[in-house]
Amino acid sequence: MQTKILLDEEQIPKKWYNVQADLPSPLDPPLHPATQKPVGPEDLSAIFPMELIRQEVTTDRYVDIPEDVRDILRLWRPSPLYRAHRLEKFLKTPAKIYYKWEGVSPAGSHKPNTAVPQAYYNMKAGIERIATETGAGQWGSALAFATMLYELECTIYMVRSSYTQKPYRKSMMHVWGAECIPSPSTKTNSGRAVLEKDPETPGSLGIAISEAVEDAATHSNTNYALGSVLNHVCLHQTVIGLECREQLAMVDDYPDVVIGCVGGGSNFAGISFPFAGDKLTGKHKDVDLIGVEPASCPSLTKGLFTYDFGDVAGLTPLLKMFTLGHDFVPPSIHAGGLRYHGDSPIVSRLVNDGVMRAVAYHQSEVFDAAQTFARTEGIIVAPETSHAVKAAIDEALKCKSSGEAKTILFNCSGHGNFDMSAYDAFYAGTLVDYEYPDELIRESIARIPKIS
Ligand SMILES: *Cc1c(COP(=O)(O)O)cnc(C)c1O
Repeated sequence: MQTKILLDEEQIPKKWYNVQADLPSPLDPPLHPATQKPVGPEDLSAIFPMELIRQEVTTDRYVDIPEDVRDILRLWRPSPLYRAHRLEKFLKTPAKIYYKWEGVSPAGSHKPNTAVPQAYYNMKAGIERIATETGAGQWGSALAFATMLYELECTIYMVRSSYTQKPYRKSMMHVWGAECIPSPSTKTNSGRAVLEKDPETPGSLGIAISEAVEDAATHSNTNYALGSVLNHVCLHQTVIGLECREQLAMVDDYPDVVIGCVGGGSNFAGISFPFAGDKLTGKHKDVDLIGVEPASCPSLTKGLFTYDFGDVAGLTPLLKMFTLGHDFVPPSIHAGGLRYHGDSPIVSRLVNDGVMRAVAYHQSEVFDAAQTFARTEGIIVAPETSHAVKAAIDEALKCKSSGEAKTILFNCSGHGNFDMSAYDAFYAGTLVDYEYPDELIRESIARIPKIS
């Protein structure tokens, strides 16, 4: 009864898979926030290195992973694929459940998969400092780790509600040598503007992004890095799905269902895009690709597929994506990494085209699933990850009713070792299930800019 399916270090993918090559028609281009004309490479070069700009738009099916980057990925990759025998037994399901364990990275999540190449390309371009935002602190700690390895400075704007809720993520960033500032801050025009309107604001990813972009755009030695949403981030995460496909082949299997939680969409993209590619090119059977989001921030299930800003201040290019409106401030749920008003343009497009689908859950039911997982498989997952666990359990229970022995694969995106206060709240019965009122969603959607 094999539990861990492992690859050798040499089997770390040598190329990332780019699903843009297999889309039936090209993505709608990002638009300049002021002119609403498609942005060119020169518009982005103030905050991104040229190689990442190239990766953002390329339609090449594969992009080489630099050896220098693969050498660092060796610290935790290939990550193990587990067969969840004990969870299956507990659920009494005929389904086979597999999970890809990304919590083995130094920062404890999938995020270093992109932090490392992003830091690498910035170092190569002669950049000295990277500014970024972080929600729950996962991305900030991943980028702090990666910039340290390439001797870059790192400034992190951390959403204030997480900065107070999750002090140990901030401590990790300090250990790795980064500066961490609660957002909104008084350091930037965007931060000061928000604080003037609402001094008590819990902050949001949209606000923190405005601050980091402004910091990068106003300092010539500084670039900006984003931990999710963008095409190059999703590209870097495809090592997850590429490894899974090899690992499942080792046990003669292929998934019927692939699941990932969705904040900006990158870990779901990472595990699902290679399978979406198989589906788009007709190479493999019809795999069900499910993105899971919180009911309190339901961008894929209740948002609009349209052009919107990536941030609150309207500094970023307009992206065609599912959005709740760029000034939507989601409630401070514990899955801080899932509190984003928009989604990856590629994931959005694939959901809109029916290649993928999305479901939403409340936080008490996902913590319940996380408890089941911890008490069967042992791993205490991040609150974000618990959304994927819940969907995997639900799919396995559907198999129990129907008698189908499906193969379910989900991305176990990170550990929850720094999120124990959230588990404490679950046990204390103080978790609140916010269903964001449709009325307020309609209001923020009404403030999305009109594109002529
Ligand atoms: C950041 C994070 C997420 C959500 O981000 P995506 O870009 O949607 O993947 C999910 N799980 C963990 C553990 C995270 O740190």
